[in-house]
Amino acid sequence: MNKGDYSKYTKRSIRSLQPYQAKEMPCKVKLDANESPYRPLEETMDKLSGIPLNRYPDPGAKELRKTIARDLKIAPDEILMGNGSDELIYYLIIAFGGPVLFPVPTFSMYGIISRALGEEHIGIPLDKDFDIDTGKMLAAVKKHKPKLVFLSSPNNPTGNCFSSDRILKIVEQAKGIVVVDEAYQPFSSDKGFVPLLKDYPNMAVLRTLSKIGFAALRVGFLLGDKGLVREVNKVRLPFNLNALSQAAALEGLRDRRAIQSHVKAIASERGRMFRELDAMPGINPYPSEANFILFSTDNAHALYLKLIRSGILVRDMSGAIRNALRVTIGTPEQNNFFIEALKKATGRKK
Ligand code: PMP
Repeated sequence: MNKGDYSKYTKRSIRSLQPYQAKEMPCKVKLDANESPYRPLEETMDKLSGIPLNRYPDPGAKELRKTIARDLKIAPDEILMGNGSDELIYYLIIAFGGPVLFPVPTFSMYGIISRALGEEHIGIPLDKDFDIDTGKMLAAVKKHKPKLVFLSSPNNPTGNCFSSDRILKIVEQAKGIVVVDEAYQPFSSDKGFVPLLKDYPNMAVLRTLSKIGFAALRVGFLLGDKGLVREVNKVRLPFNLNALSQAAALEGLRDRRAIQSHVKAIASERGRMFRELDAMPGINPYPSEANFILFSTDNAHALYLKLIRSGILVRDMSGAIRNALRVTIGTPEQNNFFIEALKKATGRKK
């Protein structure tokens, strides 16, 4: 395909749309956007944020995109910002439509959003190692001709990365857009797919700040060819990323060292947690490249309830994987608390 020509991927009804353009012009008196000229609690608000809260945010999140572009060595127009990557999944499915294909079990929103938008979606079981079942996935690509494929790598809830060569096989054979969702990439030893974007024009990558300390800000981003970004931008709501989130994310990203050291601490605790879980009779943890560990046990739901009684909330994944629970890696103290409660709940400790 011609790079830059992505409209053939886009749903017919969206193709002729233009991205919303909010006029931005330096001026002395700004009276174009029906904002209030007044700033309630101005002093307090200024102290809190220093941002004029009576004005709409930068519709293009330019500073933030510039910063991310610099970090990832790509161009700002190869980035689309979302109110969390959830919102970008929504936009991708609105813009390109279905069928939407993904392996299962995986992040539930691919299916939920497809359903909400009335788009066909197909889940193809992972193989016994939780890797992509290449034969089945390629057969589904051929049969259903998906407009979109979502591959979460590392995968939520299994925690593993899919094999790169399997991902690339899907990218090569799919006629639609393949989105590699790298929400958990910072915790992984894999480099991820951003450096390969220029070689695979129908591939896009999703990232988020939610897992590295900024979940409350709701900041996610889509990375891909600028033509692809342009198509998805057609369905983006004009001011989807609020001003406080833009400012806080910029500030947060400035402290790369802090983020790195937290990510490192979590990865190291993940190793310790895995060894602890692995040593417990009746608990089978799965190797993880993310900030959580999936483990199976005899009666997961009963264990889940026992943990709640000890004040610990994990995620019961039994609906997707038989007798499996997912625990997020916390601080060393939180992890110790969890391990002790788990030992008690499984009868390994009084
Ligand atoms: N992708 C995956 C694989 C996830 O697990 C999550 C969060 N659970 C998201 C995307 C959404 O993240 P957010 O909307 O917070 O950016």
